[in-house]
Amino acid sequence: MSAFKLLLLPGDGIGPEISAEAEKVLAFLQTAGIAKFEIERGLVGGAAYDVHGVAISEADMKLAQASDAVLLAAVGGPKWDGVPYDVRPEAGLLRLRKDLGLFANLRPAICYPALAEASSLKRELVDNLDIMIVRELTGGVYFGEPKEIIDLGNGQKRGVDTQVYETYEIERIGRVAFELARKRNNKVTSSEKANVMKSGLLWREVITALHKREYADVQLEHMLADALGMQLVRWPKQFDVIVTDNLFGDMLSDVASMLTGSLGMLPSASLGAADSKGQRKAMYEPVHGSAPDIAGKSLANPIAMIGSLGMAMRYSFNLPKAADAIEAAISAVLAQGMRTADIKGSAAKSVSTSEMGDAIVAQLKKLLG
Ligand code: NAD
Repeated sequence: MSAFKLLLLPGDGIGPEISAEAEKVLAFLQTAGIAKFEIERGLVGGAAYDVHGVAISEADMKLAQASDAVLLAAVGGPKWDGVPYDVRPEAGLLRLRKDLGLFANLRPAICYPALAEASSLKRELVDNLDIMIVRELTGGVYFGEPKEIIDLGNGQKRGVDTQVYETYEIERIGRVAFELARKRNNKVTSSEKANVMKSGLLWREVITALHKREYADVQLEHMLADALGMQLVRWPKQFDVIVTDNLFGDMLSDVASMLTGSLGMLPSASLGAADSKGQRKAMYEPVHGSAPDIAGKSLANPIAMIGSLGMAMRYSFNLPKAADAIEAAISAVLAQGMRTADIKGSAAKSVSTSEMGDAIVAQLKKLLG
């Protein structure tokens, strides 16, 4: 049986509650003989600040570096609103992304038929929707220099951010997108603003050359980011894999997330470069935050967290059967009418965080047991 090292970082707010449900899934997979998981536990965000005075300790960073995958729940909350900027809860996330070199953010937007009513779009547009947004995560305008506010001395100021991409950054994110497309519906839509931005022109040039050189079997289309925003809400099922830069990816993936109904449903993966054995550093986390408004009340939906674990099975542990089973189990419990409060809609009653986790494990037992 393969053994994998997993660092679990429950973080703040609802983080510990949804982490407990992911641990139930891990325990089941281990009992069922699918794989062995050596689970380490660490602190991140406000929880780390309270104990160590920083958003993640050096010891936990070492554990992250040594693990096959990091599973993080969420960070932040009003309790830490006033802490110094460089030790604020989000700094833990940024440190993990930076030090692990996680340049590719994968956000699937899947609309389970049972939840199509929760989408802001008509059922026929989103029913069975399954698209993957690949966002460049470590470059572009969020990191480019100069980045400053200059006092012009005449009562005016100038705010500057710099959008900058180099060939290798575009190539490596392009590769992730093409490889994913080959395992899905074989189509990549690359998005930028080549009509008005030099970095966009370079992006299009590099993706086109990479496609011609290594991925000619995959269908490639280019779409300006504004047009893509429009097409995402007009006819989202036309897309398979979308690849785009940090800024456009930030916005477009949030738009895509609303197509699927609830924030509590959405997993994500952030991947680093492949080593000589094809292994990548990786972190898996729900898209949502720490939901302090419902923390400690057993109201949190654990599906995004369990779905993130499912992505770890697929992209870090090479256990596609386990990944498929987790997705099928989630789909099945939703089809049975199980709902946490955030996705209750017109359902008669909702279940607690742990009832939802238990129901998913019970389904997994049927599928894999
Ligand atoms: P949020 O995602 O925590 O919550 C937004 C709304 O969605 C809330 O009403 C919340 O109750 C609900 N919600 C979120 N996840 C849910 C779940 N699993 N089940 C049921 N309902 C859920 O966003 P926010 O309120 O803007 O931020 C709260 C804190 O989280 C802030 O400190 C923010 O900085 C932090 N945050 C962290 C991350 C992260 O850890 N990656 C991401 C976003 C926000």
